[in-house]
Amino acid sequence: VIEIGTPDRSIITTCAYCGVGCSFKAEMRGDEVVRMVPWKSGKANRGHSCVKGRFAYGYAAHKDRILKPMVRETIHDPWQETTWEQALDFAARRLRAIQDKHGRQSIGVITSSRCTNEETYLVQKLTRAVFGNNNTDTCARVCHSPTGYGLGQTFGTSAGTQDFDSVEQADVVVVIGANPTDGHPVFASRLKKRLRKGAKLIVIDPRRIDLVQSPHVRAAHHLALRPGTNVAVVTALAHVIVTEGLMNEKFIRERCDWDEFQDYAEFVSDPRHAPEAVEALTGVPAAEIRAAARLYAGGGNGAIYYGLGVTEHSQGSTTVIGIANLAMLTGNIGRPGVGVNPLRGQNNVQGSCDMGSFPHELPGYRHVKNDSAREMFESLWGVKIDPEPGLRIPNMLDAAVEGSFKGLYCQGEDILQSDPDTKHVAAGLAAMDCVIVHDLFLNETANYAHVFLPGSSFLEKDGTFTNAERRINRVRRVMAPKNGFADWQITQMLANAMGAGWSYDHPSQIMAEIAATTPSFAGVSYDLLDREGSVQWPCNDAHPLGTPLMHTDGFMRGRGKFIRTEYVATDEKTGPRFPLLLTTGRILSQYNVGAQTRRTANVVWHPEDVLEIHPHDAELRGVKQGDWVRLASRAGETTLRATLTERVSPGVVYTTFHHPQTQANVITTDFSDWATNCPEYKVTAVQVALSNGP
Ligand code: SF4
Repeated sequence: VIEIGTPDRSIITTCAYCGVGCSFKAEMRGDEVVRMVPWKSGKANRGHSCVKGRFAYGYAAHKDRILKPMVRETIHDPWQETTWEQALDFAARRLRAIQDKHGRQSIGVITSSRCTNEETYLVQKLTRAVFGNNNTDTCARVCHSPTGYGLGQTFGTSAGTQDFDSVEQADVVVVIGANPTDGHPVFASRLKKRLRKGAKLIVIDPRRIDLVQSPHVRAAHHLALRPGTNVAVVTALAHVIVTEGLMNEKFIRERCDWDEFQDYAEFVSDPRHAPEAVEALTGVPAAEIRAAARLYAGGGNGAIYYGLGVTEHSQGSTTVIGIANLAMLTGNIGRPGVGVNPLRGQNNVQGSCDMGSFPHELPGYRHVKNDSAREMFESLWGVKIDPEPGLRIPNMLDAAVEGSFKGLYCQGEDILQSDPDTKHVAAGLAAMDCVIVHDLFLNETANYAHVFLPGSSFLEKDGTFTNAERRINRVRRVMAPKNGFADWQITQMLANAMGAGWSYDHPSQIMAEIAATTPSFAGVSYDLLDREGSVQWPCNDAHPLGTPLMHTDGFMRGRGKFIRTEYVATDEKTGPRFPLLLTTGRILSQYNVGAQTRRTANVVWHPEDVLEIHPHDAELRGVKQGDWVRLASRAGETTLRATLTERVSPGVVYTTFHHPQTQANVITTDFSDWATNCPEYKVTAVQVALSNGP
């Protein structure tokens, strides 16, 4: 029994975890949260929530929070508490000294998709207007950057096409590389409700996730593909649709580029893309691919939902393009019940990308080479903006190891735990002269930091998050920042310590600047959000109350663009030394690297990460249920307990990455998506052997 006090007031705000973006009433007594109650009028969640969001307030008050700024000369010295003024002065002097010695491009920023839109906008402004370069990147790099590329190329914008309500009109739902039950639980409930009413489900995933067969839901088809063969499966689906004449020619003629379609049709019609031709490669029976293609193309409204099992591959961008091709081929775009919907892992992945936190894009997805966009920001900010794209996260780390990149401001992101190939990340961080970590806790990256700036939790600041359906939700301050300042204020203080002269008094002023500079946000204001609860961008003169469905009359780019999707095998290959393929995912009660959820009541439900292994593979290695095993790849090794399960196929093993002691990213390698450098987290060749424990 949990004893709770009686609240004296409540404030509506937004969950800080996944891309569903549930609205909550934070019930308060004095300056303490008594409980979080899902808000019935929240348009993304309609009164529902999951176990993560309900207990999220626990980490805000956790004893591990650092509340005072700290500095140290070298990473071998002990931390010294100091004042905000001295810490920011120390950071600013070091960054300036680095630029004086190594040049303008020698410093940069990594920000987080857990930050608000307003914070993210300020961080990219800090980089472009104060640092004088475009070396700004976001953790969206390591999750959904291929969505940005793939949907941008085919449809003209990097965003999910539907609202969550749309699933209630779907007849066929395709879930690819996502596990909504664990990753996006409130959306999963709505999806399951629709499936119970008769919609058909196709799951494309190496693992037999809960949706494949649970008490009330059963997938019509489970394409249990071999990790790394997404492109071959998606192209085989298109092959069936084109060669069996199942495409929607009227839609293609009216909405897409016909010449490009013909080129694509010729490509996918080649017999080498037939399901029978790729059966041995993908491990999926040809008959299953044919049946799934016929169902998606002919079963009524077809909706595709996908996750990181699509993007975190060396061909992540190609698979996103392939998914967009499928939707255009069948006319499943531009009306309720259809569409292409990336399920965003973090609460503000969409907003982080919208706000210009990639090194090649200004806010609103305008390339830094775009003269008119650059000139608009230059005149507003009174600076010159570098027309050359900056460094991506892996480029920053490579340049650090090589000696040309020396200073990093890392806001809300633990790159040492969350980025691949931990040894390389550590080498990059160790080679820098100034690493500034701005976070709630002393995370793993902070081991390599010279300045620690304590962050504020989502309960302590105003702002907005944009969820997976482009819905801009208000985040409201329910208590004073325990560290003294909200995160947007800290970024402003750092900018001013470097001579910027910014004077924002409230995040609503930052949103006003976003609206003035970013066409898809032109109509957004805090007044509107308070009045409507939330709106979906584009929100402007043409759509003053937002846009639930995109591409209804035409694509953002004009005509939809078909692009060939040639399968290229990953370089990460199994062999005698590393005979199994490791893939990774999440569990319901935990969130990402667990920095927050491990500091809430949720920790009791998932105290450790385990390795799922098929009983056949376990028997070959003499491994029994609960045994310790050593998991090794060419990048590194770790030790964890084995769980024997047929959820994974023979030849495939699986783990989560919520606990630092698991060190899952010691195992993952440095291969990445060809277009965006999104790491190939989902395919690592490994060996598993019985172990005595850590
Ligand atoms: Fe909603 Fe996601 Fe938060 Fe759960 S974690 S409450 S589904 S936003």
